Amino acid sequence: MKIVFIFLIFAVSLACQNPAATTAKTEIETPKPKIAETNLTPSPTPSATAKKEVSKDGLVELIKLDDTLKLDIRYATANNFVGKAVYKEARAFLQRPAADAVVRIHQKLKKDNLGLVIFDGYRPLSATKLFWEVTPASKKKFVANPKNGSRHNRGCAVDLSLFDLKTGENLDLPTEYDDFTAKAAIDYARATEAQKKNREILRKAMESDGFKVYAAEWWHYDFQNCPETGILDVQFSEIK
Ligand SMILES: [Zn+2]
Repeated sequence: MKIVFIFLIFAVSLACQNPAATTAKTEIETPKPKIAETNLTPSPTPSATAKKEVSKDGLVELIKLDDTLKLDIRYATANNFVGKAVYKEARAFLQRPAADAVVRIHQKLKKDNLGLVIFDGYRPLSATKLFWEVTPASKKKFVANPKNGSRHNRGCAVDLSLFDLKTGENLDLPTEYDDFTAKAAIDYARATEAQKKNREILRKAMESDGFKVYAAEWWHYDFQNCPETGILDVQFSEIK
């Protein structure tokens, strides 16, 4: 009987435990450290990156990333459709993500004894204005209207072809660079089999890493994840 009584007292004391004490226990628990969400930098989404404005600080010289790329900067010579040198320096620049992709593609082509030969990358707006002025109306689809600018003016487009790593010679493509005729179209069917094969190797390689061909010119590729706004008119000598 005594034992039962003691048990009852124990049970009642448990049931009547001070609720304030329980609360206090909860309150003094060490709170888990909270991450200040406002201090976190959100990782940029592709669409956010695409809306960013271009800057000359984003431009990088291709040859500095990989000196095995071949440069054939026609606008720095008289061998171009203008008939005189437009650039003072034979150099090629792109926005960093596009430049990195070009280098990756060039490296991948090496296993087939091929490399990329660069004709042009970033193009100052002043050059685009000159091209527009000297091009007859019937050929204007091959040059950008300086009113809108082009991806070249942002450093997001590249003109290029393939070369043989052993001989250093450019491969045979359906036309010369800047041939402003229907033969330059990516789907021009009357090229030789070898020319079509080379055109397809270039297209497949470029489109495997973020570029898209311009249908009227087999040599022109636009990088798809580049800033969509802003036009640059800095000269090559001003780029670090
Ligand atoms: Zn182009």
